[in-house]
Amino acid sequence: MQDRTYTAEAEPGETVTVAGWVHEVRDLGGIAFLILRDTTGQIQVKFQKDEMDEDLVETGLGVSRESVITVTGAVEEEPRAPTGVEITPESVEVVAAADPELPLDPSGKVDAEISTRLDNRTLDLRKEEVQAIFEIRAEALAAIRAHFREVGCTEINTPKIVATGTEGGTELFPITYFGQEAFMNQSPQLFKQLMAGSSLERVFEIGPIFRAEEHNTPRHLNEATSIDFEGAFCDHQEAMDVVEGVVKAAYEAVAEECSEELETLGLADEFEVPEEAFPRLSYEEAIERINATGELEEQLVWGDDLPTEGEKALGEDVGTHYFITDWPSEIKPFYIMDHEEDEQLSTGFDLMHPRMELVSGGQREHRYEELVDGFEQQGLDPDAFEYYTKMFKYGMPPHAGWGLGGERLVMTMLGLENIREAVLFPRDRQRLSP
Ligand code: ATP
Ligand code: MG
Repeated sequence: MQDRTYTAEAEPGETVTVAGWVHEVRDLGGIAFLILRDTTGQIQVKFQKDEMDEDLVETGLGVSRESVITVTGAVEEEPRAPTGVEITPESVEVVAAADPELPLDPSGKVDAEISTRLDNRTLDLRKEEVQAIFEIRAEALAAIRAHFREVGCTEINTPKIVATGTEGGTELFPITYFGQEAFMNQSPQLFKQLMAGSSLERVFEIGPIFRAEEHNTPRHLNEATSIDFEGAFCDHQEAMDVVEGVVKAAYEAVAEECSEELETLGLADEFEVPEEAFPRLSYEEAIERINATGELEEQLVWGDDLPTEGEKALGEDVGTHYFITDWPSEIKPFYIMDHEEDEQLSTGFDLMHPRMELVSGGQREHRYEELVDGFEQQGLDPDAFEYYTKMFKYGMPPHAGWGLGGERLVMTMLGLENIREAVLFPRDRQRLSP
């Protein structure tokens, strides 16, 4: 819209046209105020009834909440107004009237259930604190992209419709592709590895992953945003350095660029950029420390996957982001390389936030024979993956990488209780629309 001024930029002494939503109308008798809201904030519009054209007053005060209007008028300083300025309107135009019955209250005075909020996400995102989450998410993703470029990575986009899955058949969503069975991709794993073997060498992708997991938890989605890295001539240690850099870059950018949003979320004082190196605990140390907390009914033994309560107890004990390294080979995927000195130990690692897992990664098996054996041991048919395995015959360098859950990053960064708060239109067991 030409000649539109954002509410945050309306300066005293100017005559401006602002456009946005009717946040509130307060009629005090002789005087009334309309609060207009746009993406940058709010501004007060003052109606001095006996000094103004009757039609103008009627239009301004008769409009229903959440209607879209434009207001043209002079901006004046007014210390009592919420933002220190107010507009005396010359004209008010109703662009799109809103139904007076709203399914939720964007002013936030009346709380709504999460399901009502998700059903009406447009209205929900008219709330400052919900808007703040998505501004922060966008800032974090932009910083992550910039950081990847700084460390020599090329952004790629790989197919989401695939012929085969990597992480076992049960978690795949099948679809029909011109009469043929196909699947929604669970992870860009195989494709990003193929690109680490190309002259791109170091690649990243930010894109959707699809998991047909039945569980319904506050930290699982059936469609999530995965931030993926894969680098040629990298080992697992270097891959951990890269993810540590990415996570810190996201926190730094949010601290620097999103102070208002953090304020809105009540996090201005407690938001901390992780400064120290993330501790790297071996799996063995991790289970010993979990056992020592006494939080689990049964002691963990070598080879156990870490139960959620175990992760929680360890997270409280460590208190910062940390890595768990040197997992037993048997509980990490077959494409992860084992340690040369000890085949029981894998180079797989997880990056943990005190509350939950954020990342899984590792060095990959790049030797053709070992890779094909791995498929067989996993009960997967290597022939079905020939498009992938054959590239390992034509000069595949050692490489390593990881996948970071974008929503989990935002969720843990902002202390959100439910991962659904960090995604606009979540896909879960109950939700396929909107
Ligand atoms: P979890 O054990 O927590 O279910 P996972 O080990 O199955 O996760 P990976 O396959 O290792 O997940 O995926 C790498 C990262 O992608 C995870 O650490 C997580 O941040 C994110 N992720 C994976 N699955 C989901 C999901 N269903 N919902 C949201 N994020 C996910
Ligand atoms: Mg994992």
